[in-house]
Amino acid sequence: MKDYIFDLDNLFVEDKVKSAKNLKKFQEEEMSQNENNEQKNLENCLYDKTMHCPVCDYDFKARAIRKGKTRFVKSELDLRCIYDPVSPDYYDVIVCEQCGYAAISSKFNRITDRQAKQIINNISINYAHKTYPKVYDVDVAIERYKLALLNATVKGAKAGEKAYICLKLGWLYREKKDAQNEISYLKSAIEGFNLAFTNENFPICGLEEGTLLYIMSALNYRLGNTDESKKILGRLLVKTNVPEMIKKNAEDLRELLRATHK
Ligand SMILES: [Zn+2]
Repeated sequence: MKDYIFDLDNLFVEDKVKSAKNLKKFQEEEMSQNENNEQKNLENCLYDKTMHCPVCDYDFKARAIRKGKTRFVKSELDLRCIYDPVSPDYYDVIVCEQCGYAAISSKFNRITDRQAKQIINNISINYAHKTYPKVYDVDVAIERYKLALLNATVKGAKAGEKAYICLKLGWLYREKKDAQNEISYLKSAIEGFNLAFTNENFPICGLEEGTLLYIMSALNYRLGNTDESKKILGRLLVKTNVPEMIKKNAEDLRELLRATHK
């Protein structure tokens, strides 16, 4: 009788290769499905707000976060706030995609005729129409804040407005773990806010004096300027009419500064 010999160790070799390929395909499909779901969830948090451009008179849509669709998680030492799932900072710059005029939302409509002319002559003239994705990531947000900073420079905005944009850019670079750019923009924020303290009235871009003193002290602490940080904190601690939350943060920062000098 004829016998058949099998290499039983390798009987399923091809099936195993096929199975591994199928598993990989399945995992990839699942991942892309998850990404799609995440994208859809984020899209559900946003809507299109109709805006009118005060520079070129064009009506356009600006992405905005639906009420109650994002949740405050925590704030860092210098009051950078973390939200889930959408960061309001990503959507705070309004860009007219027609003429390139961009500003933080609280300043978008506050523009004089002279400033509008400066935007038309210096920005719109070189601006190519740009469409942004439906959901922004940190890089899109950085691009929009930089366009807002360019517009602020061209329109001759006050130091406080430019400093506020630099503060947000510093925070966005922190999110990207790009320490070099973070530090550069935070230094500019400190420089601009110092000028604003002398020359501008509060609130500055929505920040009251006590809050801004606290942020300045925390920024200096982060950049290693502990003497400056202490000096500013001293100014804050003798102030009255400071919100409770800021007082509490200031006391925590004072403890940190004490520990640094031990
Ligand atoms: Zn426009």
